[in-house]
Amino acid sequence: MAIKKGFNIRIYPNTDQKALFTKTFGACRWLYNHMLALQKERYDNSPEAGFLTTYSMNYILTQLKREYPWLKEADATALTGVNDNLGRAFRNFFQKNAKAPRFKSKKYEQSYISKCVNNNIRIIDEHHILIPKAGILYYRSGRIPHGRICSVTIRMKPSGKYYASVLCECEEEPLTKTGKAIGIDVGLKDLAVLSDGTKIPAVRFDKALEDKLAYWQRIMSRRLLKAKEAMREDPNLKLSDFRNYQKARQMVAKINEHIASQRHDYLQKITAELVRKYDVIVVEDLYTSHMMKNHKLARAIANAGWREFVTMLEYKCGFSGKELRKVDPRSTSQTCSDCGCVNNRLGFSSYGWLKVREWNCPVCGAHHDRDVNAAINILNLGLA
Ligand SMILES: [Zn+2]
Repeated sequence: MAIKKGFNIRIYPNTDQKALFTKTFGACRWLYNHMLALQKERYDNSPEAGFLTTYSMNYILTQLKREYPWLKEADATALTGVNDNLGRAFRNFFQKNAKAPRFKSKKYEQSYISKCVNNNIRIIDEHHILIPKAGILYYRSGRIPHGRICSVTIRMKPSGKYYASVLCECEEEPLTKTGKAIGIDVGLKDLAVLSDGTKIPAVRFDKALEDKLAYWQRIMSRRLLKAKEAMREDPNLKLSDFRNYQKARQMVAKINEHIASQRHDYLQKITAELVRKYDVIVVEDLYTSHMMKNHKLARAIANAGWREFVTMLEYKCGFSGKELRKVDPRSTSQTCSDCGCVNNRLGFSSYGWLKVREWNCPVCGAHHDRDVNAAINILNLGLA
């Protein structure tokens, strides 16, 4: 079975290639905002006229290219891709599945998607990739993209680093079956607790860089203040003219990206091992969980990266012929995994119960570690 798989690689564009990427990011943003304004204007004038379809927007794009020749310098598939996206955004909005599309600003991560047409995106070797208009780029990656390339997304992070996500269609690569199943509970203290008693700690990668981050954040805000003062005096100045401020801003972005990538690598490693070891992995479905309603807890879960963890398990299971099952976690922490009786939080309030780490079953007397017991119940629910 063919599946779509994304490979994230770091790319190192030269000066010309950087300039081309900047132009393409700009052209895509400009086109998006232009089309959005057009749609809004049309709607304000006659709401019953409905919205322009992707097809009509592409027709307008052809004319815009005549009017603004610089649009032709950008990758053509990136521009039609913008129309696709906007068309989809409007369809979702009208089916009430999403909020109205908003104008894009330059402030955040910049990106564009280039579609592969006639083999114009190619992996040349383990360090070189061919990208339309940009030519050959040097890249580095842990995994070399393979399979039939569908598209590539070029990204520039706020730190100034460039990445490409290469979306490929490839064959499933089944892992050896082990005949084993495991249940996983979201720990409060730990990232995850397994039904065999293993606890996977939640590493606070942000802690190690906390001081450094705070230091650069202070410098950044001080320099921003100074820049704003200078800009009041001389309205010709732009924020991009303040090299010192820009440097501090990039440092802050770099530290944040570093923390995120460390956490990402950690999760990759853990999920890869779980998928290798087990054929069936059972987790709790957080959407049906009462837990997200508790804000403090919701934050703890977010910190632990639980959602990212489950997403990774999901696609890794998909790639390797393993299975991820999600179960309703209701009362899994109150059920005795030995005798199956459900207790009434042993008399604790729902908040107080969260703090109970270990307990004894009032019926059979079994001694339980809260999280391990819950993980066993999750496994049983998944296998039932
Ligand atoms: Zn019991």
